[in-house]
Amino acid sequence: MIDYEKALALVLRSAEPMPACRVRLEDALGYVLARPLTASFDLPRFDHSAMDGYGIRVADLAGAAEHSPRSLPVVRTVYAGNSPGGRLQKGTAVKLMTGAWLPLGVDAIVMQEYCRQKGDEVLIACSPKPGENIRKRGEEFKKGALVLDAGTQLTPPAVGLLATFGSSSAEVYRKPAVSILTIGNELLTPGARCGGGMIYDSNTYTLAAALKGMGIAKISLNRLKDDRRKLRASLEKELDNSDMVLTVGGVSVGELDLVKEILSDLGVEQIFWKAAIKPGKPVMFGRYVPTKPAKKSGKPDPKQRAKLVFGLPGNPVAALLAFQQLVRPTLQKMMGLKEPRKIILPARLTAPRNKKAGRLEWVRGVVRFKDGKFMVWPTGGQNSHMLGGLAEANCLIQLPASQTCFEEGQEVIVELLNWNE
Ligand code: AMP
Ligand code: MG
Repeated sequence: MIDYEKALALVLRSAEPMPACRVRLEDALGYVLARPLTASFDLPRFDHSAMDGYGIRVADLAGAAEHSPRSLPVVRTVYAGNSPGGRLQKGTAVKLMTGAWLPLGVDAIVMQEYCRQKGDEVLIACSPKPGENIRKRGEEFKKGALVLDAGTQLTPPAVGLLATFGSSSAEVYRKPAVSILTIGNELLTPGARCGGGMIYDSNTYTLAAALKGMGIAKISLNRLKDDRRKLRASLEKELDNSDMVLTVGGVSVGELDLVKEILSDLGVEQIFWKAAIKPGKPVMFGRYVPTKPAKKSGKPDPKQRAKLVFGLPGNPVAALLAFQQLVRPTLQKMMGLKEPRKIILPARLTAPRNKKAGRLEWVRGVVRFKDGKFMVWPTGGQNSHMLGGLAEANCLIQLPASQTCFEEGQEVIVELLNWNE
């Protein structure tokens, strides 16, 4: 049994970013940039107005105040998208809309709220500072500056920056294709009639949902009986078709736990089986380097990438938390992220808690900011078959392998759960 940190290091070492591809801006959300975005022009591109108001020369309004307003003739209006027209002459004002390109000579803008226009004249009752309400050319990015580094995940604002610089597409890392093989004689499709010792299969749906939450769309779903021949055929096919294979169930020590043996027969190198974690102990990880000729060319392809294989335990919470703690960071690396994303914070336990030494435990909890500090409440139903306690949780409480007793009020580390990253 290896400890969690070692297991995580091993899986991350085996994962490589996927090859790059180009996606349309409309489809770019969630992908990770394979190339940096540098500013192809100064941003803003031109000096422009931050407000609806009047462009003036500061010198013309020296001393203007509530009790001594100044009146200036308004020579024209510039709307966003218009060209600015000629230089503003001394003793005049120009009406400017937000985003309007500034005429030369304007050195401040007075907000409309401080002005009163009467016919062709505007009455201004304040003396603005130079530069007020002006957005300067290049104040955010100078041409050539780094805007988004490679390895940045495209969030809505990052997509917006690509658009701002006129990119209609982005070079990103491909997302991996993932196969899920859910294994067990007892499993039924939700909606089917259920009786006897049968149960509805939930793991297929939790894992597919977790993948979708990460923005992974190429998912192959397969439900199989504990049947050596069918399992072998399905694994062989999915290893061929996907970048990662997740088996669920049948990876423990029961008589029908066939996964490890079949994977080994198929040439999957087992890197570890069993980690000192709770839940999720029976998890297995392996690597498969295809040796068969690649399908299309018919020739062996030395560049064929290794496929990663996780054998996840069948208990629903164990499956999902092994996914969360080992598979998710691996997929994030394959998607091109430099660092796994995780928000970790200290919080105080609201109740004492004991555990056995030897395994790192992830207790499902609800963390809230209360009375000036983060407090965490373990949820009900902490067993590895109890999805209810995980569905309720917004965090996982990390209880270190070596420790056994945790007191009420003790500070513990919690990891926020975000199924959409
Ligand atoms: P296994 O890892 O195959 O020994 O399964 C461990 C436990 O998880 C057993 O109680 C199974 O019935 C249950 N289980 C396995 N697969 C699923 C599934 N897809 N959905 C719900 N429960 C499952
Ligand atoms: Mg089973």
